[in-house]
Amino acid sequence: MSDNEIYTGAIKRLDNAISHSDMDEESLERLKHPKAVIEVSIPLRMDDGSMQVFTGIRVRHDDTRGPGKGGIRYHPNVSLDEVKSLALWMTCKTAVVGVPFGGAKGGIIVNPKELSRLELERLSRGFIERIADFIGPDTDIPAPDVYTNEMIMGWMMDEYSTIHRRRTLDVITGKPLSLGGSLGRNEATGRGAYDCIKQLEKRRGWKPGDITVAVQGFGNAGQAVARLLFADGYRIAAISDSAGGVYRDEGFDVPSIIQIKNETRHVKAVYCDGAICETVDADNITNAELMELDVDILIPAALENVITADNAERIKADVIVEVANGPTTPEADMILNKKNDTLIVPDILANAGGVTVSYFEWVQNRQGYYWTEADVNQRMDEIMQCEFDVIHDVMESKSIPMRTAAYVHSLNRIGAAIEAQGTRSYFADARD
Ligand code: GLU
Repeated sequence: MSDNEIYTGAIKRLDNAISHSDMDEESLERLKHPKAVIEVSIPLRMDDGSMQVFTGIRVRHDDTRGPGKGGIRYHPNVSLDEVKSLALWMTCKTAVVGVPFGGAKGGIIVNPKELSRLELERLSRGFIERIADFIGPDTDIPAPDVYTNEMIMGWMMDEYSTIHRRRTLDVITGKPLSLGGSLGRNEATGRGAYDCIKQLEKRRGWKPGDITVAVQGFGNAGQAVARLLFADGYRIAAISDSAGGVYRDEGFDVPSIIQIKNETRHVKAVYCDGAICETVDADNITNAELMELDVDILIPAALENVITADNAERIKADVIVEVANGPTTPEADMILNKKNDTLIVPDILANAGGVTVSYFEWVQNRQGYYWTEADVNQRMDEIMQCEFDVIHDVMESKSIPMRTAAYVHSLNRIGAAIEAQGTRSYFADARD
C-alpha cells in the first residue's frame, strides 16, 4: 500500500454516504482532517543490554461528540496512514452505536512476538510516558487492539497514574478486572458481531444447523464470535490464524480449538475431552483459500485489506461480517455490491461491541460502581440490536449498501453535533 492509500479509501466511504445523510458539506470537510497527530520515539533498553528505538503514533481524529476513543496496536506494519484511517473509523464507530466519544487510535511499529515480557512492559510504559500529555480520561482514552491485551492496558494505566500522581482508572479501557476492568469487555467485540448475526437470523429465518461459517483470524474477537455461534448450533466449518487454517464441512468443536490455540498458539483440527486432544479429519487450508470457501457467513477477524479487487470476484459467502477493521477495500466493495446478493455487515457496526463495553468500563470507573456481567451484556445487546435494525432499515429504504447506510447513520449523529455549533447558513443569516 502506498502512502495515504488506506486513508484515501476511508475518505471515499464518507464521500459515498454524504448525499444520503443530513450532514453539511462543510462538516464533512472537517472530518477529512484528523484533529491532532503525535509521533514519538521510544528508546528501549533490551534484555541483552543493547538499545533499540521504536516509533509510536497516536492520532485523535475527532472529539466533537466526546473524548477521542480507540485502541493501540503493536504490529510491524503500523503506519501513520493506517493509524489515521483507524482513528477515522473510530469516530464513525462511536457514532454508529451512539456512545459519547469521538475517534482516536494509536500504534507502535514493532513485532511484539520478538520481545521478552519485560521488554514489552518497558515499551508499553515508555509509550505512555511519551504521550502522557496527549491522552487523558477527558481528552483521549486508549484501549486494546491488534496484539495488545488487558495486561498491557493495566501497565499503561499504572504508568499514566504514576506520571499524574493520581490513580486514573478511566484513562484506558480493556484493563484487567482487578484493575478496574469491566466484566464482559473481553468478549464484547465478538459478542457484538454475534448480535448482528442473530438479527440477520431473525430476518432471514435461518436455522443455525444449516449455516456454515468461516472465521479468518482467531484472536480475542474471532474466538468469541465463533464460540457464541457454535453454542447456538452454527457450523463453524473453517478457522485460521496467521499461520494458516483448517476446514471441515460438518464443522468443528470450537471450545477444543480455542483450548489448543491457547495451549500451543496454533489453530489445529482437534477434539478435546478434558486435557486430552485428538486430531479430527480436516483439510489444511491457507488464509487465502479460507476467504474463497463456499460458506454462508465469512468473518474476517484479523487485519485490513484481505478482501481486495484480486479475490472479491471469487468470494462465495452470502454474508460477510467484518469483525476486523477495514478488511474490505473500496474496490472490492464495488465488485461485491455488483454481485448484489452479498451482504456486508460493515466493521463500524459489526465490531462496535468492543467500544460499547469500553464506554461502560469508563462509566463504571467514573462512578466507582461496578455492574454485573448480565447487566453489561444486556445493555450492549440492546444497543447492537437496535443500531443494527436502524442501519438495516436505512439500507433498505434508500437502496444503498449496508456500509453506506452505517456511514449515513454515523454522519447524521456527528453532523448534528458539529452543526449544533452553527452552520454556514446560520452565521451568514446573522450578517443580513
Ligand atoms: N480496538 C477496538 C476497536 O477497534 C476497541 C476500541 C475501544 O474500545 O476503544 O474498536
